[in-house]
Formats: sequence, C-alpha cells, structure tokens
Amino acid sequence: MHELSIACELVRVAEQAARAERAYKVTAVFLRLGALAGVVRESLEFAWDLATEGSLLAGSQLVVEPVALAARCETCERIVQPESPPILRCPHCGNYTPELLAGRELQLRALDIERAPVDAATAPASTPR
Ligand SMILES: [Zn+2]
Repeated sequence: MHELSIACELVRVAEQAARAERAYKVTAVFLRLGALAGVVRESLEFAWDLATEGSLLAGSQLVVEPVALAARCETCERIVQPESPPILRCPHCGNYTPELLAGRELQLRALDIERAPVDAATAPASTPR
C-alpha cells in the first residue's frame, strides 16, 4: 500500500524532529494534505497505527488538515478553485489552469511532543504555558 510507505516516511521525519527537541513521546502530528497530493486520507489514517508502532509516535494522533486546490487563471487574472481534477479548469471561464498554487501539499506542519524535563536544578518550579 502506497500510503503505508508515505506514513513510514512521515514517521521517520517526525521522529528525527522530535529527537532534536529532546522529546520522548509524540502525541499528535499535524499534516497539511493537498487535494491533489495523490494520497488517500483514509488510507493514510488507516496505516498510521502500523507505521508508528515501536516509534516515538506510537499511539499518536494524525491530524490531517486538508488543503483546497488553488490555481491562477491567466484569462480571468485571478486565483480560482479549479473544478474536476485532475483536469484543472477555471470555474468562471472554463479555460485550463495549469498553474497550481496549492493542492499538492504533503507537509508536516507541527508536532505535539512530550519533552524530558530540563535539568531539575535550573528549571523553574512551575513552567508557565
Ligand atoms: Zn478563468
């Protein structure tokens, strides 16, 4: 399954970022997913538990933030939301809009992590949030 290998790659990148932040656990992963990214959201969510098993992300929640299509129509000279992908046409004039500005995102946006406490001697008694 295509989405499983994508999930594994996301886990690898997220784990690297989490370790750099001295995290011992990742509780949530926020992902921007474009409508034309070529990834089925449901399959990705389905693969998540398997992909995160045994990693810092085990038991974490995958939060998918969908990104709508946006393209520039050269005829109308404005940003439009093309209809009926993968053939992208301007909903106003019907011309092709090959210049896609958004919709192909597959982007790790943020992580919720739990971090090991900083050196107890220097850490304040209560950390303001
Ligand atoms: Zn147009």
